[in-house]
Amino acid sequence: MGTSTAASAGLGAGVLPHWHAYAKTGRDVDRAGFPYGQLLDGDQWLAKPRDWIAATLHDEVAAERWMKEQLAAYPPANVAAHGYAHATLNTRLFLTREPHRDVWAHYWDRHGREVLRLLAPCPRPIVSWALKKTPVECPETRAQV
Ligand SMILES: [Zn+2]
Repeated sequence: MGTSTAASAGLGAGVLPHWHAYAKTGRDVDRAGFPYGQLLDGDQWLAKPRDWIAATLHDEVAAERWMKEQLAAYPPANVAAHGYAHATLNTRLFLTREPHRDVWAHYWDRHGREVLRLLAPCPRPIVSWALKKTPVECPETRAQV
């Protein structure tokens, strides 16, 4: 596989990197109950119950396909809206070049529904600025559901 993504992201050996996909639409976005400003934080999503996971993707091609399907299924009211354009422009870039980053879309669709989609890389990367906090465990292998 050449240079492994896991090694370059500073992840532990033996755990293959993957993405957990989250999807909330309409009032479910509010009901998710995130503290203000933390809606796009993958750490917050991974800490939620396991059954919140919409899909688990094991490579960037599958992850990108999932996001594209979501965006296509929920056409935006305005294609230029930041939270939609961001996803269309950056999903592939983040997945392939910066796989430690959360990939997200957050916009209003043509029916006036709030759309929140997020791909959270897992395990969480160990980066220097995060040394003081314990990385969130993989929701699929932790003891707590
Ligand atoms: Zn995981």
